[in-house]
Amino acid sequence: MPKKTTLPAACPCGGPSYASCCGPYIEGAAIPATAEALMRSRYTAYTLGNEPYLLATWHSSTRPTEPIIVAGEKLQWLGLEVKSALRLRQRKAESDNALLQDTVEFVARCKLNGRAQRLHEVSNFVREQGEGGLRWYYVDGSFPE
Ligand SMILES: [Zn+2]
Repeated sequence: MPKKTTLPAACPCGGPSYASCCGPYIEGAAIPATAEALMRSRYTAYTLGNEPYLLATWHSSTRPTEPIIVAGEKLQWLGLEVKSALRLRQRKAESDNALLQDTVEFVARCKLNGRAQRLHEVSNFVREQGEGGLRWYYVDGSFPE
């Protein structure tokens, strides 16, 4: 667990609360069932500076070897908007368990060294056998803008 930060009532990803949203995934109590849930928990892990979780959910073929969170960098995450949520919800009606790859489009806003940034990404995820069963992993992303 990261230091003595007080967690906000709402989950950093925009969910109702950390404990009922990304918390169980980040703390290893549950496995995200969808690529979107994994993506949200990874965003939340970024806001908490939880590098071990980011590495554990990164596919081994693309996992970075350099530090993800740069010490001394003034990075503040401001919010997340998932663009393809509706499409994913519609797809949920189909057999979710058979899905072995998926994409999630999102916009994350942050402030890097005082400068506002907008990260628009379409992330690719694969689902593979991992610790505790089938798990989603982040592979890579493309930037539509
Ligand atoms: Zn969340």
